[in-house]
Amino acid sequence: MPDLIYSILKKNFGYDEFRTGQKEIIESVLAGNDNFVLMPTGSGKSLCYQLPALMLSGLTLVISPLIALMKDQVDSLKANGVKAAFINSSLPHNEILPVQEEALSGKLKILYVAPERMALDNFKDFLQNLKISLIAVDEAHCISEWGHDFRPDYRNLKMLKNIFRKAPIIALTATATEKVRLDILKELSISQAKIFISGFNRPNLNLRIIKKKNAFDKLLSLLKNYENKAVIIYCFSRKETEALAMDLKNTGFKAQAYHAGMVANERKKTQELFIRDEFNIIVATIAFGMGIDKPDVRLVVHYTFPKSIEGYYQEIGRAGRDGLKSDCVMFYTYADARKHEYFLNDIADETIRKQTENKLIEVMKFAELKSCRRKHILNYFGENYKEANCHGCDNCNTEKVTLDATIVAQKILSAILRTGNRFGANHIINILKGKKNEKIINYGHDKLSVYDIVKDYSVDELKEIINLIINAGLIIKTNDQYSVLKVTQAGLKFISQKEKLELSLPSKEDIDEEQESINELTYDKTLFEKLRYLRKQIADKLNVPPFVIFSDASLQEMAFYFPIDKENFSMITGVGARKLESFGNDFLKIIIAYVKKNNLSSKKIYKSRSGKIRLPREERSVNGDTFSITNELINRQLSIDDMAKARGLAISTIISHIEQLINSGEKIDIEYLKPSPEVYEKIKNAFKQYGEEKLRPVFEYLREQYSYEIIRLVRAIMNAEL
Ligand code: ADP
Ligand code: ZN
Repeated sequence: MPDLIYSILKKNFGYDEFRTGQKEIIESVLAGNDNFVLMPTGSGKSLCYQLPALMLSGLTLVISPLIALMKDQVDSLKANGVKAAFINSSLPHNEILPVQEEALSGKLKILYVAPERMALDNFKDFLQNLKISLIAVDEAHCISEWGHDFRPDYRNLKMLKNIFRKAPIIALTATATEKVRLDILKELSISQAKIFISGFNRPNLNLRIIKKKNAFDKLLSLLKNYENKAVIIYCFSRKETEALAMDLKNTGFKAQAYHAGMVANERKKTQELFIRDEFNIIVATIAFGMGIDKPDVRLVVHYTFPKSIEGYYQEIGRAGRDGLKSDCVMFYTYADARKHEYFLNDIADETIRKQTENKLIEVMKFAELKSCRRKHILNYFGENYKEANCHGCDNCNTEKVTLDATIVAQKILSAILRTGNRFGANHIINILKGKKNEKIINYGHDKLSVYDIVKDYSVDELKEIINLIINAGLIIKTNDQYSVLKVTQAGLKFISQKEKLELSLPSKEDIDEEQESINELTYDKTLFEKLRYLRKQIADKLNVPPFVIFSDASLQEMAFYFPIDKENFSMITGVGARKLESFGNDFLKIIIAYVKKNNLSSKKIYKSRSGKIRLPREERSVNGDTFSITNELINRQLSIDDMAKARGLAISTIISHIEQLINSGEKIDIEYLKPSPEVYEKIKNAFKQYGEEKLRPVFEYLREQYSYEIIRLVRAIMNAEL
């Protein structure tokens, strides 16, 4: 039987492996249990009922509230050769009967229906004439009044268990508190259900906060990396969406606004065009996103910070449903709090206002966080995240540089003391930088010995350093509206005892710099574009969204392995039997021509038990062990560069994996990564001289000739040799 599961997985879905949880759930469904599944968006819940549907003798009934999605789901199943159909209010009357007949004839395997159908007596009669083997209730939280998305139509589902006593039920949702969970079990009468809950973590989402200063320029340079990739930009107001969409259009981007103030038709059309890749940037209020299920959104931007962590997580959740690396960028400035306050003041009920305000403060805390953002959010939702470094947020990915801050801290503290612990950071910085403004002149602060004595740090850097000194406890910032800086007892001691101070700063290039967006296999971008174009043409001809034909992940693999015959093509993820037959030749033609023209050769796709392994991607490491994948790549002697590219991780992340593997006592052979003996010895000697603790002294001693990465790598090799 396991073999049968795997062969259906490949034949009808094109996949070789299950994602975490899927196999256990499918086995439980096949064993006849009722099941409750709580897994995050994009984790692959649909497969948990779609695959069993193909193994069970009767029909699988799927209840879903998202009418817009049903057609896409059914189209995707059909493209994979699965007999599926839907019935909802969008279907003309004369098309409903044929679907019902098909179902009655026993040919149909999966039938999607909207919950309100269940209220109609003749529909119930129709269902009772069917042989129903399984019932899937999607978005199951909608049945609970405690949930945030209660739908009265879902009340109709209470009777399911009564009518179809024999059919197991599988309830699925991505959001449910414990209260809602219990409610679902009760309402559906499935108290004995097997419970499957996986955490909230979305490991393929990279979280980043950018200071909102010169925001539009920063946005432009960010968007340059997302040409032809789907992007959602969330704005604060309808007006803002329109203005920003216009500005983006004027700069040559393919952007459209979307908000609840648009007429329904126009909204629907905009959404449809976005799903069909007719334009790639949607500039929206948070009205956008409900009921759309585009799997390949690569970037979600919050141009103004959101109202709550809950909202933030739901909105960024629309990125990367296909499991590929995707970015989430929030523009943050304290000043935007004013926009929110404006609405806060409109809330009459004091308790609600206070609650709303607290949620807002949580978002600001999150934005100003210096530690792992993923950990913070998961904690917020009550989940314990144990990794020290998530490798997927700006704070974890930024290389920290240790700075000897003794002198500059002395200067800052002196300036605060000399002016009597009475001024805020801006004024102190103005003194240190030798600014001549009215306030300085009036107070005579230009006469102070600390006036104009900081040359080697910019204003922004000083701000950063002051924050770090506050964190270090040498000064405090008062909580009143003046935010005055005061030197603490520890600060006084620091000065009088001439103590040393070291601070961890984000390395200079990283302050406010865009981190390169990390992504994907090192696939051939030109070929990818050609394949994308073909996909779009086929999709338009068949009148379906492009992702129904092949996902981005499939196209990337094609553009990486260059399969040139059917056998190899069939080994690409997402290529099942039906798709091979329907689309194989068209795609192969393009690949073959490209390979010939550019003198390329196909790469071998490695085989494993279930068919193959490819270069493991982050998606597979998700809940597994990210280090062991790096380890495997080391065994295959990939260069650091190639490992980083293959995994869509930063080079520094790969090196930190190596360090951690060594620390954990893992025997790894990294000799092959050694730079030339001459370079190696030079760096090694520098470490001998300055100790291995810090990189900076070595970096400077070697006159900045070698990158931090090489230096770190050499240190790792030295340790591995021990
Ligand atoms: P959810 O309903 O949990 O939000 P979906 O069922 O829509 O997630 O699946 C998300 C994406 O993951 C889809 O593009 C789907 O094709 C893909 N997927 C699901 N299972 C697998 C698998 N075993 N291997 C590869 N991709 C998968
Ligand atoms: Zn992190």
